[in-house]
Amino acid sequence: MKKDYKKETKGLVEGRVLFDASMKRYTSIHVGGPAECLLFPKNLDELKKIVRHGRKKGIPLFILGRGTNLIVRDRGIRGWVISLTQGMKRVRIDGELLEAEAGGLLQRLIHFSVQKELTGLEPFAGIPGTVGGGLAMNAGAWGAELKDVTHSVTLMKEDGEIVEKPRSRLRFAYRSLTLPPSWIILKGSFRLRKGRREEILERVKSFSEMRRRTQPLDYPSAGSIFKNPGEGPAGKWIDEIGLKGLRMGGACVSDRHANFIINLGKATAEDVLGLIERVEKRVYEEKGISLQREVKVVGEA
Ligand SMILES: Cc1cc2nc3c(=O)[nH]c(=O)nc-3n(C[C@H](O)[C@H](O)[C@H](O)COP(=O)(O)OP(=O)(O)OC[C@H]3O[C@@H](n4cnc5c(N)ncnc54)[C@H](O)[C@@H]3O)c2cc1C
Repeated sequence: MKKDYKKETKGLVEGRVLFDASMKRYTSIHVGGPAECLLFPKNLDELKKIVRHGRKKGIPLFILGRGTNLIVRDRGIRGWVISLTQGMKRVRIDGELLEAEAGGLLQRLIHFSVQKELTGLEPFAGIPGTVGGGLAMNAGAWGAELKDVTHSVTLMKEDGEIVEKPRSRLRFAYRSLTLPPSWIILKGSFRLRKGRREEILERVKSFSEMRRRTQPLDYPSAGSIFKNPGEGPAGKWIDEIGLKGLRMGGACVSDRHANFIINLGKATAEDVLGLIERVEKRVYEEKGISLQREVKVVGEA
């Protein structure tokens, strides 16, 4: 199969193509098996070619952001994994609209908004990941969600056609944006307000500081594992039943924030997923709460 992908991608992609690329390197929690083929399209035209070719040949496609909300199973991902992080990361300003391509970092966008004296993105300071991943997850913090400042999203359909959708026609929900299968986020346009640089910067610093105080940033993780249920923060319930510090192999429920699972160094995806299941079971048994996963789990079972 690998050989076929070498043939399939030859002449199709000028950007980088990696075979058997360890997803430990491409996810923030550093677990997971290899992606059979990891492609970094150079631009939109190349992405379109990849999507059309993949569709014609029935190759499964997966869009990877920065892998900061992702657990890849140990057997890896079959098919083509596409990363927009090298060829599609421009940011530009159009009045009070900030337009950012999906492969750029959300943090770079925030930095840019500070430079341009535009306010609205500060609560997202410190959320790792790309603009595309942020929109796909409707990333949020401190009561704000990315949808609140989203004006429109440009998407590639499964056949390569490009459409722009205003926010009113997008199905954002808590930590999700529902799209038809195989659609790709290409670009987001964000409506911000004019502000004063020092004040914006001050808010960015203060949100980043709160994050440093409450999250285990010195260990690899995938951020919050569970969505907060209606009953209150997931971390509170996990903490209340004494699961902080619970370990499975190299995976451990963080002492600092019970909704984070950290990789102590040698964790496998099986360790992390086993620990997630154990936490889910205990919280259900002892609190009657069914935790829903925020992290995405992909790859061969
Ligand atoms: C230390 C830490 C702190 C975090 N804090 C927060 C927080 O405060 N708030 C929060 O909401 N999240 C937080 N996260 C989780 C994560 O950073 C966000 O969900 C982030 O937006 C994911 O972006 P990504 O580029 O890494 O996406 P990935 O993890 O690579 O992908 C996530 C999902 O988005 C899809 N996707 C990515 N790009 C595209 C695209 N262009 N088109 C279509 N689908 C796409 C992927 O297929 C996948 O299903 C944290 C994570 C860590 C490690």
